[in-house]
Parts: sequence; C-alpha cells; structure tokens
Amino acid sequence: MPAGGEARVTRAVVVGAGIAGASVAYFLGRLGWAVTVVDAGEHAASHVPSALVNPVRGQSGGVDARAVAGMAATWALVAEVEAAGLSVPHGRTGILRPLPDDRARARFERKLPADLPHRWLDRAEWPAELEGDWAHALLLPDGGWVAGPALCAALVVLAGTEVVRSRAETITDTAVTLSDGQRLTADVVVTCGGSVGSTWAGETGTHRMGSMLRLDRAVTARPLSFGAYLAPDGAGGTLGGTFETPSPVWEPPRLPLASLRWLLGKGEALADLRGVGVRGVWTGSRLSGLRCGRRPDGVWELTGLSSKGFLLGPLLARELSHEIGRPSRGQ
Ligand SMILES: Cc1cc2nc3c(=O)[nH]c(=O)nc-3n(C[C@H](O)[C@H](O)[C@H](O)COP(=O)(O)OP(=O)(O)OC[C@H]3O[C@@H](n4cnc5c(N)ncnc54)[C@H](O)[C@@H]3O)c2cc1C
Repeated sequence: MPAGGEARVTRAVVVGAGIAGASVAYFLGRLGWAVTVVDAGEHAASHVPSALVNPVRGQSGGVDARAVAGMAATWALVAEVEAAGLSVPHGRTGILRPLPDDRARARFERKLPADLPHRWLDRAEWPAELEGDWAHALLLPDGGWVAGPALCAALVVLAGTEVVRSRAETITDTAVTLSDGQRLTADVVVTCGGSVGSTWAGETGTHRMGSMLRLDRAVTARPLSFGAYLAPDGAGGTLGGTFETPSPVWEPPRLPLASLRWLLGKGEALADLRGVGVRGVWTGSRLSGLRCGRRPDGVWELTGLSSKGFLLGPLLARELSHEIGRPSRGQ
C-alpha cells in the first residue's frame, strides 16, 4: 500500500477512440483498469457510417488467417453492447460478393478456407436488386455490417471510461502530455491513433482515403461488395469504399469528382440506383501495416488495421488487453 494506506488507482491511458482504442478501453475496463481515453475527436476512420464485417477481401479474395475468429469477436462485442441496453445499428445478414467471371471465382475458391462458412448461390437465388453482368455470387453468411460511430461510442460508454477531448502531443510508457500542457500519468499507455495519429506522430506509412455516399434508403438489406460496397447504415444506406491512390501521410478529406464518377459506376454495376437520393458524404483515411503489441519504448499499440478494422479490431484489442493483464493492486 502507498503511504497513507490508500489503495492506489491503477490507471491506463488509451490514445484514440476509434474501433481499436474504444475496444482496448472496453477490455481493459473489464480487466479492472481505471481507463482514461484521450481522443482528438477528428478524422476517425472508424466513423465510417457502415463498416462491413467481411472475411473475404477486396477483389483478390484473400482471407485473413484470423477472419473467422475476428468475425466471432466483433459480433460477440456487438451482442454485449446491445445486451447492456445500448443500441448499435448492425445487420448479421451475411455479405454477398458478386464476381464478374470464372477466373475471379477460381481465384476466390483457391483462397477460401474450409472453416469459413460460404455458399455459391444459384442464379435463381440471387437477390432482385443485384444488377449488372455478374457471373457468380458468393454468400458469406457470417458477415454483415455495423454502424462504426455507434459501436465506438457505445464501447466507451460501457467501459465507463473518462474521455478527454484533446490531442496527445507526447506519449511515453508512463505519461501522456496533452496539447494544453496537462500531463496524465499512467501505469499503462496504449496508443491507437490510426491514420491521422500516425501522421501527427511524424511517421510515414501507407494511407488510403475513401468515401461513403450516404443514401436516403438502404438499396439492399444484405451488403453487396465488389470494387465498392452497398450496405444499410441504420438511417438509410451507403455506397463507398477506399479507392484513392495511397499516400505516405494522412491527407485532409476530399472526394475528387473523378472518384465520384468511378464510385457511381461501381454502385450502378451492383444495383439499380434509380430513385435513390444522396444525404451526404463521409470521407476517411485508413492506415496499412498492422502493429499490435508492446513497442521497444514500453508503449502498447494497436494500429494499422487497414480495411479490417471491424473484422479484426475487437479480436486484437481483446488479445492485447489480456497480454497487458490485470492491474496489480496495492503497489
Ligand atoms: C471509406 C472507408 C471504408 C472502410 N470500410 C471498412 C469496412 O467496410 N470494414 C472494415 O473493417 N474496415 C473498413 N474501413 C477501415 C476501418 O475504418 C479502419 O480499419 C479502422 O476504423 C481503424 O480504426 P483505428 O481505431 O485504428 O483508427 P481511427 O478510427 O482512425 O481512430 C483513431 C482516433 O485516434 C485519434 N487520435 C489519433 N492521434 C491522436 C492523438 N495524438 N491524440 C488524441 N487523439 C488522437 C483520432 O482523432 C481518431 O479519433 C474503412 C475505411 C475507410 C476510410
């Protein structure tokens, strides 16, 4: 016990309240840590209005080795949040991946692991809204979509963490100094700054921007994904993806007209968009190059989730938190 006989509060400071930071805060809270989250409140990629929980990636058909476990962890977390009475718009509807030709199907088939539930749909089973000249349709029944901002916010509320709305200027293994000079000391510091945080920290990397058009209705109940994706978002629908040329640093959000044209073309190839209105646009940037663990300077980190934030973020956050372990009382 410290002088005075009071129990010492073992505090963890987590920088970033995106899906990585919010999940870490939640799991550390469950382990008994008093958690403070420092978040600048801007440019979170996790505020993507509708994120796919998608085990089969992009147009390559690659499947992450942790995809099955990742999906289970994300859905378990959503279920825990909802069981606690907080609402997170989501759909465990499955995801449909239309493919343009036999070569694409062969490429996907080669990479589909035996333990990943999937089914090639007969044409008669294709949903009415699937447009265009597709050759095959792969159903991934355990996938789905989740509203990013609602999940992140709910995790922070549920963790009962103190949230400090500020930018962390310096981050060490025992303290975080904020832009107003305030210093938060901690037993454990975890940094989860994503794309913008990496650039604020002076690093270079692979950052990729993308945009989501917010639609006045969900064109499809089950997300459709190839090139771009169409999905519900709780308030209507979304059409988007990450498609801009990669850049070495985070860049301010923008949607070039040429990208808008490209995106509409991808959307129209997926479904009939006639009569659908646009409510707004959301643009974000994701960072590639997963880093999960303890850095040589003692700071813990979870970042570089690329396009798999909602597929792997909760799983990796849970594992990282268990690696950090329970706080030791009465030091
Ligand atoms: C258009 C688009 C579509 C996407 N679609 C999907 C999808 O369908 N499925 C999927 O799984 N993933 C998708 N992603 C990727 C996903 O959004 C990211 O993998 C994930 O959100 C990254 O989460 P994060 O917590 O690491 O970072 P972020 O969500 O970017 O959060 C970082 C937070 O930390 C804060 N921060 C950073 N540095 C500091 C600091 N020094 N001090 C204080 N605060 C700081 C930031 O302000 C921010 O709030 C998409 C990304 C984009 C851009």
